[in-house]
Amino acid sequence: MLRRLNYIKSVQQPMARVLHIKSPLQNSTPVEHIVSSAKVKTDIGIDRDIPYIIYGQNYRYKEGHVYQGFRCERVESIPDYGLMSCTLRHLGTGTEFWYLDRNHIENSFSIHFRTTPFNSTGLPHILEHLTLAGSKKYPVRDPFFKMRNRSVATFMNAMTGPDYTIYPVSSMNEVDFRNLQMIYMDAVFRPNLLYLDFLQEGWRLEHKDVHDRNSDIVFKGVVYNEMMGAYADNNILLKQKMLNNILPSHAYGHMGAGNALEMPKLTHEDLVNYHRQYYHPSNARIFCYGSFDLEKTLEFVDKEYLSHYDRMDSSFSCIPSEKRWSEPRRVCIQGRPDTMGPSIDRQNQIAIGLLLCDITDIQENFELKILAELLIRGPNSPFYKSMVEPNFSGGYIRWTGHVPNRKDTYFTVGLQHVSEDDLELFEELFDNTLHKASIEGFDSQHIESVLCNYELTLKQQSECRHLLYKSIVLWNHDGDVVSNLRISELFSKLRNKLKDNPNYFKQKIEKYYINNPHKLIITMRPNECQEIERQLSESKLLLKKLKETSDEEFEQIYENGLKLEAFQKAPQDIEVLPCLSINDVQKPFPRPKMNELTLRSVPTLISHEPLAGITYLNCMFNTTGLSLNDSMLLPLFCSVVSEMGTSNHDYRQFDNLVRSKMARIVFTPKVVESVTDGKSYHLGLLMKTYAVDKNVDLMFRLCEELLLNFRLDDTDRLKMLIKNYISKFSLNVRSNGHLYAMMGSSALVTNAGRLKSLLTGVDHVDYMKKYVKENSIEAIRDSLKSIGSKVFSRNNLRVAINTSEKTVSSILGNYERFLTHLPTQHQMINTKEIFLQEPSFRHYNLDMPLNFCSKTIFAVPYVHEDHAALRVLAKILTAKYLLPVVREQNGAYGAGAKIGFDGLFNFFSYRDPHSAKTIEVFDKTYEWLQTGNCKIDQQAVFEAKLAVLQLVDWPIAPGEINSDSFVLGATYDIYFNYRARVLAVTVNEVLNVIEKYFKNESKHFGKCVIGRKSVEIEVDDESDETSEMSN
Ligand SMILES: [Zn+2]
Repeated sequence: MLRRLNYIKSVQQPMARVLHIKSPLQNSTPVEHIVSSAKVKTDIGIDRDIPYIIYGQNYRYKEGHVYQGFRCERVESIPDYGLMSCTLRHLGTGTEFWYLDRNHIENSFSIHFRTTPFNSTGLPHILEHLTLAGSKKYPVRDPFFKMRNRSVATFMNAMTGPDYTIYPVSSMNEVDFRNLQMIYMDAVFRPNLLYLDFLQEGWRLEHKDVHDRNSDIVFKGVVYNEMMGAYADNNILLKQKMLNNILPSHAYGHMGAGNALEMPKLTHEDLVNYHRQYYHPSNARIFCYGSFDLEKTLEFVDKEYLSHYDRMDSSFSCIPSEKRWSEPRRVCIQGRPDTMGPSIDRQNQIAIGLLLCDITDIQENFELKILAELLIRGPNSPFYKSMVEPNFSGGYIRWTGHVPNRKDTYFTVGLQHVSEDDLELFEELFDNTLHKASIEGFDSQHIESVLCNYELTLKQQSECRHLLYKSIVLWNHDGDVVSNLRISELFSKLRNKLKDNPNYFKQKIEKYYINNPHKLIITMRPNECQEIERQLSESKLLLKKLKETSDEEFEQIYENGLKLEAFQKAPQDIEVLPCLSINDVQKPFPRPKMNELTLRSVPTLISHEPLAGITYLNCMFNTTGLSLNDSMLLPLFCSVVSEMGTSNHDYRQFDNLVRSKMARIVFTPKVVESVTDGKSYHLGLLMKTYAVDKNVDLMFRLCEELLLNFRLDDTDRLKMLIKNYISKFSLNVRSNGHLYAMMGSSALVTNAGRLKSLLTGVDHVDYMKKYVKENSIEAIRDSLKSIGSKVFSRNNLRVAINTSEKTVSSILGNYERFLTHLPTQHQMINTKEIFLQEPSFRHYNLDMPLNFCSKTIFAVPYVHEDHAALRVLAKILTAKYLLPVVREQNGAYGAGAKIGFDGLFNFFSYRDPHSAKTIEVFDKTYEWLQTGNCKIDQQAVFEAKLAVLQLVDWPIAPGEINSDSFVLGATYDIYFNYRARVLAVTVNEVLNVIEKYFKNESKHFGKCVIGRKSVEIEVDDESDETSEMSN
C-alpha cells in the first residue's frame, strides 16, 4: 500500500489506518502506512532519558550465549545513536532477531518477510491486508482497526514494499506493547485468510446493487481501488515504471503492489499457498527496540510461534542481481493530464536512471549517495545549474537522487512539467553535465557542505522508526545493518579517501555515470484520454470475465455479494482482543523542563531536555497585520527568501555556508485559531532550523544575516523559483487529497479556514497562477521585499529554543546578540476576528478515477468542555460508522472523522469511488446514531478514549518539544486538563454532544469533493476566492 510520510511535520499529522501515503523509505515504491483521523500533536514532555551504552564485558547479553531459544551472535555498540546492537538467531528456525537496546520510553517491535512478487496481481499486498483480517487466537475481522481503539500504540502499521512486507508496532506502555506483539505474531503466523475477506480486501465481481441481481456487475475490492487510485498519481506511476524498467528481469519487473487490471488473475488459493511458503519463520526477520525486557519477548516469540516450525531453506525468496546491460534503453509511457498544472503541452516528465551497485556494499553506496547529493542538491550542484536554473521545466521530479533500497541501487534525475521540444535538451544536458563534472570535479567547499549537511541529517534522525527504515531493505538482502548505522566510520573512511585522492569523485563519475551502459531514459506524456482508456480496459476485462462465467457462477456472484454484506454487518465479539484498562493510561507526561523569559522584549521559551547535542531554533513572526495581498504572498515569500542569498553572500555562497554549519532555514506560514475562545485567529511566519551545539553561534549569525540582509533582486532566479514552487504545489494534491478536501470544506465554514485554504490549499494554486500572470516579476519582487521589511522585526517576534540543559547558558549570549541586531518596528495587531459563513459546497476538478470527500461543521474551540467529548465521538464514528460503511461496504480506501485544535469537526474519505453516497453517509450521521446500530456504552466510549489518548500522548521529536505550546498556544496546562477531560468523558456526555451538534444540521457547514465531476452532486459555482475575505 502506499502512504505518505513526506507529511508536513507539525501541521498535518497521520490519520487512522490505512490511507496510502508516500513511503518513509527514501525513493521507495508503494508501501502501506496508517493514516486516519488527523492526529494533532500535543504539548507533552517525554521522559527523555539520556541514551546509554554499556561497552564490552559488562553488557548484559553475551555473544555465544543462548537466551530463550535464541543464540546471541553479535553484540556491538553504535555510538552515533547511543545504542547497543544485539543480533540473535533462533536455534530451530534460523530466524534472525535484531535488538537495538536503548534507554528510551518508546519501544518498537516488527516482523518482516521477504515477499518477492512474481507477477503484478498484487499478491503480497493483498496478503498483507488479509493477514490483518483475523487470526486463530483473534478471530475478529480487522483486529488492526479494532486495536486502534484498545491500545495506546504510537505506531501500528503494515507496509508492502517491492520485495518485503513489514508489520511494525510501537508503544510507550509495556502492557500495550506486549498486547500488540501477541496480535501481530498471531496475525502473521496464523491468519484465517478467509475467502470473504479475500473478496472484500482483494478483488471481486459484484452487482452494483448487491440486492438486485439485474443490476450491472462490476469489479470491487479495497486493494483493487487502492491501486487504481495510487497509479492515477503520475508521480507514483512514473517512479514505479522506472523501477520496473531499470530492474526488469526479476521481482522488480512487476508492479508488486498490484496493477488493478492484473489483479483479477489472482485466486484465493494462490494467496493461501504463498502465505504458507513466504510467511515462514525461516523467511522472517524480527526487530525489537527500546528498554522493555528483551527476554520476555524472546520467550514469547519462541514458545508461542517459532518452536512450532522446522527450519526451511529460504533462498527461494532471494532476489538475484540484475544483469548489466550493454546499451541504454528507452521507455515511453502516458500519464494523466493535470488540471492544476501548466498548459498540457508543458506537462511531460522525463527521467534518466543509472544502475549503481549492490545494496550490501555499504561504504560504496554511502559514497554514491554523497556523490548524488553533490550532483543534484542545491544551487552549487552541476545538475541544478544546468537543468533547473535555465528554467525550462517545473524543477526536479520529487524522487530525484540516489535510490538505495533495492537489491541493486540506482541514481535518477528527472524533470517535471517539460515541453515536448525540451525533452531532447534534457538528455543533452544530462550527458554534458556529467562530462563537465568528471573533468572539473567539485569545489571543496561544496563537498564539505554536502558532507556536513548529510551528517547532521543522519544524526538528527535518531528515532527508532528512522533507524528501522534505514535498515529494513538492506537487512532483507542480508546486508550488514550495524555497519550501516555506524555513520561516523562511513564518513571518516570517505574523508580519508578524499584526502588521499583528489580525483576520487571524478573517477566515480567516470565509472558509474559516464561509462555505464545500464541507463534508462523514461518519458511520460499526458494523455487526455487516459481515464477513458482505463475504463475501456476495465470494461474489456470485465466482459472477458463475464463471458467465461457459467450460470452457476453468476448465481455465485449474487450469493457472494449477499454473504459478504451479511458478513460485514454481522456483530463481532471483539472482547477476544486484549484491551488496556483505565489504570494503564492514568499517567500524563511530565511537564517538560522549560523556562520562559523575555529577552530584549522578545518572549522566549527555552526547553532543556537531553537532546543528543543538537539545538533547535524556532522563531515565530507575527504577520496578522499584513494586508490581504501581502498575506496571500506569504507562502511564496517563505519558499524563496532563504534561496536567494544575502547582500553579503550570493545564493550559492550562502547555501554552502548554511549547509556546512546547520540545517536549512525553513519558513512556513501559519494560520492559528485561538484554542481558548474560537473567536479569533492569528497569522504567523515560522522560521525553523537546527545545528549541532558547537555551531549554535554560527546558526544565529547566519539567521541574522538572512533576516537583516535577505536579497530578492535576481529576477531571473525569482522567476525560476516561482515556477518550481507552483509545479511542486499542484502535484501534492493527488497524494494528500483528503487533507486538501478538508481544507476546502473548512474554507466554507470560517474566514480563518478560508485563509488557510488560500495559503496552503487547492485555492492557493489557482490564486498564484493568476497572480503570476497578472503581475510583472519586478512588481512581485517588490511586494515580496516589502513583506520581509514589514515582518522581520523584534517587536513581532516570539522564540522557542530546544537545547540540552548544559548548553543553555552558553547559547544565551549568542541568542541575545542575535536579538539585539534585529530591527524594531511598530507592533502589528495580534489577532483577527473569526467570522462564520453560509453553508456551501465546493468541487475541485481533478482528473482522478477516485475522489476525496469531506464535510466540515463548526463545533467548539479546543478548551471548550465539549471538545473532548466530540473528539471521543469522532473516534466512535470512525470505527463504527465511517470505516464499516464508507470503506468496507462502499469501497473507499479510507474514511474518518476528527476534530482539531481549530474547533472544526471534519468527516473525510480517501480514494473514494462513490462521492455522492459518501456525502450522504456524512449527512446521515445523526440518523445512524439513532438507529441502534451503534451501542454507545461504557466500553465503546472507553475504547474511543484510548484512541484519542494515542494522539494526545504522541511522542514528540526533540525539535518539536513544546511546539504545540509555542505555535498553537496549547500549553502544558491545557494539555494536562484536556487529557483529564478526555479520561473523564462519560456515555451521557457523548450522547449530549450528539444531540447538541448533530440533531439539527449545523448552521455553518461546508462540503468539498476533489476529483472528477459527478452528475449526482450539485455544487456551488466557483466564486472569486479572495473577494469575500476581510482584511
Ligand atoms: Zn494497501
